[in-house]
Amino acid sequence: MTSGERGPQTGRTFDPWYSSYAERTAGLAASEVRALFAVASRPEVVSLAGGMPYVKALPEELIDSAFRAMMREHGSEALQYGGGQGIPEVREQILQIMALEGIVDASPDDIVTTTGSQHALDLVAKLFLDPGDVVLAESPSYVGAIGTFRSYQAQIVHVDLDDDGLIPEALEQSIARLRAEGKTLKFLYTIPNFNNPAAVTMSLERRARVLEICKREHILILEDNPYGLLYFGEPAPPAIRSLDAEHVIYLGSFSKILSPGLRVGWALAPHAIREKLILAVESSILSPSTFNQWVVTEYLRQSDWQQQIAGFRAVYKERRDAMDQALREHLPQLSWTSPDGGFFTWLRLTPELDSKEMLPRAVTELVAYTPGTAFYADGRGQQEIRLSFCYPTPDRIRLGVRRLANVINGELEL
Ligand code: PMP
Repeated sequence: MTSGERGPQTGRTFDPWYSSYAERTAGLAASEVRALFAVASRPEVVSLAGGMPYVKALPEELIDSAFRAMMREHGSEALQYGGGQGIPEVREQILQIMALEGIVDASPDDIVTTTGSQHALDLVAKLFLDPGDVVLAESPSYVGAIGTFRSYQAQIVHVDLDDDGLIPEALEQSIARLRAEGKTLKFLYTIPNFNNPAAVTMSLERRARVLEICKREHILILEDNPYGLLYFGEPAPPAIRSLDAEHVIYLGSFSKILSPGLRVGWALAPHAIREKLILAVESSILSPSTFNQWVVTEYLRQSDWQQQIAGFRAVYKERRDAMDQALREHLPQLSWTSPDGGFFTWLRLTPELDSKEMLPRAVTELVAYTPGTAFYADGRGQQEIRLSFCYPTPDRIRLGVRRLANVINGELEL
C-alpha cells in the first residue's frame, strides 16, 4: 500500500491530511452499513440492529441516590485524578461479581478498571499485537473486537463453532496450519457466554479442552464476558478463567448488567500482564474515570444489585421469547440460533438471499438488522443476520420480524 492510498475519505469530503495518517489507520474503516443505521434510528424504523441495553428497566431512584451519596461522601476524590489501576473500592466489588461466574481466587490487585471492556480490548491489542500477528477468534465474532484487532494490523483467523461453542479440533487444526505457514499466534479471543453474534455458549467440557490446547501451544486466552450474568434459565458454565489463572485475561463490564453510559469495565490478568495493562492505561488516559467508578461503587453498596440483574434477565427473556415466537410464525422456513442469555439471535438465510444487499430494502420497509458480514474478518456472513432483542419491546419485536419476513419473502419472489 502506498501512503497515497491511506486514510479515510469520509463521504464526499476530501481529506487534505489523508497522506499523513499512520498506515495502521487503514484498519479504521467505518462500517459499510453505518449510514443506513443513521436512517434506522428514526422512530418509525424497528431497529433489531443495535445492542443497546434496556436501561429504562433500571431503578432510577436508586441510581439517583447512589449519585448523591457519591457526591456527599466521596466528592473530592471523585472529582480528582485517580490511579491507573482504578479505585480499590470498585475492584473489591468486582470480585463479588466475578465470584458469580465461578472466579473465586482473584484479588483486587489483579484487576485493572477500564473505560468499558472495549477499552480493555484495545489495551490488550496494544500490548500484544504487532503487524501481521494472528488473533484467533470465533466464527463469527464481535464486530468491535475485529475492528480493534485490525487497527493494530493483526490478521484475524476465524475458528468454527457449533451449538456447544468453539470446536476444539478446529482450533487445533487452525493452530497447526498457521504454525506451518510460519505465523505468529498471539491470542485466542473468545466470547464463551451467549456469543455476540453467534448466540451459542461454550460447554464446560469445551472450555477445559480449549484451555488445555492453548496452554500446550502457549497461546493466551482473551475471555470476553459481558453477558454471562444475563442467562434465561440455568446459569452459564463457570468462566474459563475460573479453571486457570495464568493463561487467561478475563474481561468484564458494567455495561450490560448496569449501564453502558457509565463506561466502567475491567480486566483480570496474570500479574506481569496486569502491570503492563496499568502502564498502557496511564499512557492512553492517565486513569479511568474516578467519578464513574465511585457512582458504580455507591450503587453496588446501596442497592440489591443481584435483584436488579435478575430484573434484566426477566426483561430480556421475555424479549428473546417474543423473537423466537415471531420467527416461528413469520419465517418458519429459516433456521436460527436462539440464545440461552444475552441480547442476540443469529438467523440463517437461504443461498438466494444476501443480508447486506437486502438491508436497504429492509430499511425502506422500516426494519433494520445487522448483516452477518459485519462479524467476519474474511468476507463471509452474506447468508446470516444478527437480530437484537435487547432494546425493542416485545410488540415492536413482533412488528419488526413481520416486516423482515415481508422483505425476505418479497426477495424470494423476485
Ligand atoms: N465485548 C462484547 C462481546 C460486546 O458485545 C461489547 C458491547 N457490545 C463489548 C465487548 C464492549 O462493551 P463495553 O465497552 O460497553 O463494556
